Amino acid sequence: MEPTYAITFNRSSLSGRELEYIFRTMTIGQIAGDQTYSKKCHALLEQTLGVPKAMLTSSCTHALEMCALLLDLGPGDEAIVPSFTFVSTANAFALRGARIVFADVRRDTLNLDERQLEGLISPRTKVVVPVHYAGVGCEMDVIGEIASRHGVSVVEDNAHGLFGKFRGRWLGSFGCLATQSFHETKNITCGEGGALLVNDVRLTSRAEIIREKGTDRSRFFRGEVDKYTWVDLGSSYVMSDVLAAFLYAQLEVWQEIQARRQSLWEHYDRELREWAEGRGIRCPAVPAHCQQSYHMYYLVLPSAEQREALLAHLRTRGILSVFHYVPLHLSPMGQRMGGRKGTCPVSEQVSERLVRLPFYNSLSRGDQDRVVAAVREFRQ
Ligand SMILES: *Cc1c(COP(=O)(O)O)cnc(C)c1O
Repeated sequence: MEPTYAITFNRSSLSGRELEYIFRTMTIGQIAGDQTYSKKCHALLEQTLGVPKAMLTSSCTHALEMCALLLDLGPGDEAIVPSFTFVSTANAFALRGARIVFADVRRDTLNLDERQLEGLISPRTKVVVPVHYAGVGCEMDVIGEIASRHGVSVVEDNAHGLFGKFRGRWLGSFGCLATQSFHETKNITCGEGGALLVNDVRLTSRAEIIREKGTDRSRFFRGEVDKYTWVDLGSSYVMSDVLAAFLYAQLEVWQEIQARRQSLWEHYDRELREWAEGRGIRCPAVPAHCQQSYHMYYLVLPSAEQREALLAHLRTRGILSVFHYVPLHLSPMGQRMGGRKGTCPVSEQVSERLVRLPFYNSLSRGDQDRVVAAVREFRQ
């Protein structure tokens, strides 16, 4: 049986109006997708982020699959993804038959190492997928410059980075396409859900078709065609308005949620950074030109043994902390795609040494202080 923890790692948080909005979708009979609450979410994302088109999807994974379809990835093409990321970043492109080329990450931000990017580009490279780890922006000016010089598309996996900025510009507004996640573990959630942001307007109408099972149903509903039919490849990527209602209750108070998370993050940082750095433990690095999204707080221990010891130490105090990401190039699937030990050394090291501390919107100051105290009692 799973032990129960006094302080868990993640807990879904309500902002207050979720049930009221869900009740409204049901009473007005709008439970399929793209109705009142989806449209409110689309407008809020488009206006806040200044992106031309936002479309809710059933998940971030599905939004990434849409990107692979939109950019016509297929056998013979290559996609460059960081090894230190969630499987979907790679799987969405592998699913179309593309070869995955694993990039290592920077030691400081744990983001795709832009200094190694050019060396991984080949004539077959079609896309690079930077992931803004922990909501701290990748070096998007360098990545964008290299990609455009080689005719490679940039898709941002912005699952962690909603409402973060890089050099004053919103994360999710750099790539021709970007994806968001509203999974329970993310800052803003509806349980399971995501969004596709389309920055290159030439991709918009095909994105609508792919999202609607390969049909021109969206144009039909706008009255642009008098019947709708099968016009391209696609699948069922639309989010139900029941979930969009839940999501809107969170999105409309995004500034409060982000302020709450900022205060949690800063409290951990104030209480732990000096303690950690005196012991060779690294805290998150946030460059001055990055306005992060406060997605998580992590520690990188000096060794794998110490990481295991810290996780066990916290468990004995009733606190659930977790590690993050088995490097994809060493996963069974990654190895079948040619991944070899030693090729992404930073990802390999960090993955064995990283601890994520409990971090969720409703984490109380008292509980957070218990986590801080427990961490500070850890003897290496
Ligand atoms: C959570 C996450 C995803 C997948 O999100 P879903 O909405 O669960 O599909 C993809 N990429 C990264 C980096 C993530 O953290």
